[in-house]
Amino acid sequence: MKDKRIEHDDQINPMPAVDPQGIRERLLNWYDHSGRDLPWRQRQDAYAIWLSEIMLQQTQIQTALPFYQRFLTLWPQVTDLALATEEQVLKAWEGLGYYSRARNLHRTAKIVAGREGQFPPSAAGLRQLPGIGAYTAGAIASIAFHEAIPAVDGNVVRVIARLAAQPWVRGREADRKSIEHWLEPVIPPDRPGDFNQALMDLGATRCLPSNPRCADCPLRSLCVAASEGTQDRYPLRRAPNKQAEEKKVVLIFCRDGRIRVNRQDEEGLLSGLYAFDWLDSTDPDIDTIWPEAERVNLGHHVHIFSHRRWQMQGWLILLDSSENNCPESQSGEEGIWLTRRQLDEIPMARALSVFRDRLFALDYCR
Ligand code: SF4
Repeated sequence: MKDKRIEHDDQINPMPAVDPQGIRERLLNWYDHSGRDLPWRQRQDAYAIWLSEIMLQQTQIQTALPFYQRFLTLWPQVTDLALATEEQVLKAWEGLGYYSRARNLHRTAKIVAGREGQFPPSAAGLRQLPGIGAYTAGAIASIAFHEAIPAVDGNVVRVIARLAAQPWVRGREADRKSIEHWLEPVIPPDRPGDFNQALMDLGATRCLPSNPRCADCPLRSLCVAASEGTQDRYPLRRAPNKQAEEKKVVLIFCRDGRIRVNRQDEEGLLSGLYAFDWLDSTDPDIDTIWPEAERVNLGHHVHIFSHRRWQMQGWLILLDSSENNCPESQSGEEGIWLTRRQLDEIPMARALSVFRDRLFALDYCR
């Protein structure tokens, strides 16, 4: 198979003539019979669509579904979400990762609540809100407000790059804009939301990254890559980012049945969530610092962030209540000592929550 990374001598096909009517009819007919049955499609209001789109950024549908239901149960309207505390929102978000999404969600809810609960009814207006980029604005505006505007995410890039057999690159902003431009005359003014959702569904169920199901694709007769047998070439991809590897020793201090945690910097990697203490040192002499009788091995865990990878070894450190031998926390603050129930209620950084689960399986904290 040809390497799909960017190659400077890649043959650039002439842009094929677009048949807007043919694409619309085939795609919408297929969508009417074969579109996915997703819960947010049962509601047309901007709140539900916005919530689902923010959750689906960098998250699979099956993972996002219970969170979507949970948020709508806790906060049925955007004005309810605006009244929640940030900590409540982060707690409900726990497990979805990329917490800046949750913070922006909360900020946006407050702004929209200040507009009497009404989202701006255009993509341009929606883009002014925190956490809403071009794709999300296009999706909300076309589905909730019927604006004839594209919504180009990774799935749509793949479909259109193959359909037109153009060497567009997934993740390159200039190419995403070219695809928006390509789609503008194709979007049907009477069903823009359905058209965008049909493209998303096609990318998710037919035009798969590997082994696309072209025989079942409604656009098969119009697809240049399928006619050439070059589907595997598109879209091109950028060289992967290297992940920096970091080793950490996670220290969970327990005194009188309570556990110490620290609130992290808003701007840092763990973005304002709670975390246990840790050492950056790659090889601390743990035997000398805490004798075996005072520690419990909580095992290894690897957490992968977008550009780095933490290799962690966890230790539960049992402190004597008569001695104040707990080292200073990373923040230089005292830290907060919590009971088991309190520990379960705070939003904990996902990288470290696995150690909380292991701690709960033991019988040390009350
Ligand atoms: S025919 Fe195949 S490559 Fe072309 S859009 Fe359909 S699934 Fe994708």
